[in-house]
Amino acid sequence: MKLTIPDHIAAIKPYVAGKPLEELEREYGITDSVKIASNENPLGPSPKALAAMQEALPNLHRYPDAGGYYLIRKLAERLRVPPETVVIGNGSDEIIELLARGLLTKRDEVILHRPCFLMYEIVVRAVGAQPVFVPLEDMQVDLDRIADRITDRTRLIYVTNPNNPTGGAFSQAALQAFLAKVPPEVVVVVDEAYIEFATDPECAQSLSLYDSERALVTLRTFSKAYGLAGLRIGYGVMPPNLAALLNRIRQPFNTNNLAQIGACAALDDHEFLERTLQVVHDGLAYLRAALNKRGIAHFPTQTNFFLIDVKQSADAIFENMLHQGVIVRPMTSYGYPQFIRVNVGLPEENKWFVRALDKVL
Ligand SMILES: *Cc1c(COP(=O)(O)O)cnc(C)c1O
Repeated sequence: MKLTIPDHIAAIKPYVAGKPLEELEREYGITDSVKIASNENPLGPSPKALAAMQEALPNLHRYPDAGGYYLIRKLAERLRVPPETVVIGNGSDEIIELLARGLLTKRDEVILHRPCFLMYEIVVRAVGAQPVFVPLEDMQVDLDRIADRITDRTRLIYVTNPNNPTGGAFSQAALQAFLAKVPPEVVVVVDEAYIEFATDPECAQSLSLYDSERALVTLRTFSKAYGLAGLRIGYGVMPPNLAALLNRIRQPFNTNNLAQIGACAALDDHEFLERTLQVVHDGLAYLRAALNKRGIAHFPTQTNFFLIDVKQSADAIFENMLHQGVIVRPMTSYGYPQFIRVNVGLPEENKWFVRALDKVL
């Protein structure tokens, strides 16, 4: 059919997701493969979350709690913020989108660092607002440069800390100095999808700067450290008036029963989180040593992944690694045609990756 679409929608480049395991196995006729392309938790989901969701299955004929009462109360207690500051979403992706839909008009500008998480640009373009890109400086998010690009049209700024796909983090001092320069009507969103993995004590923790009078939003997710990426649950912490706005425009049942129940249980699964951090930090040390030994360039990370400079076509490396049963993420769609991103797997998966890399490089 003939489609007539607005120019700002036509300008959206589709999100390029990590290749699913099932797809690789179907296409290549193999049964054993590893996916280290989407920064998922190699241990699987939190067992406590699984058990709680099993128990909740017979209630699936009921609509979810539209107010997310238990999960929001639990998060508020854990994070020491008032419940009316917490908005839960179908992944933190949904909160990213609700902020754009709730705050932006077509004449507004949104500052993004480049490269950044692809969702920001998609949601900004989808509402017809203007993304303004600020390049990384020395592979780091440069908050000074971002502040320099603020105009009277700027409404929103998205930053990721620790950053995806580079892995680096900015400090609390840098964040505070930045916030002091941002006009009060500009909303600053700090996406902390990887914050649980950060080990640098200097790494900014935006939640500790929460103030109901400050236009600051912290985004967190259950998709990474809690192993619940397939469940789709994340949240934002923000001033109550902004939270109320997002709640007004979201779908009433945006997070499903199982997601609310699973996330609640995952928050109590301290043992799982500890085991996750152990596996990730041991895995990072193993991969770092293996890359260093081979002289393969990579960047310091505060996350569960490495950005690796393969100094040749990342798409070709990706294809060749598929033949070894390993799914990595080529960074072509992020503007890095010679970089791949690889997250920590289980110890045997990390070894498998290194063996495969030796074969293809
Ligand atoms: C993985 C990730 C998220 C999490 O998205 P969900 O929708 O919660 O799964 C958010 N931001 C960044 C930068 C990420 O890498």
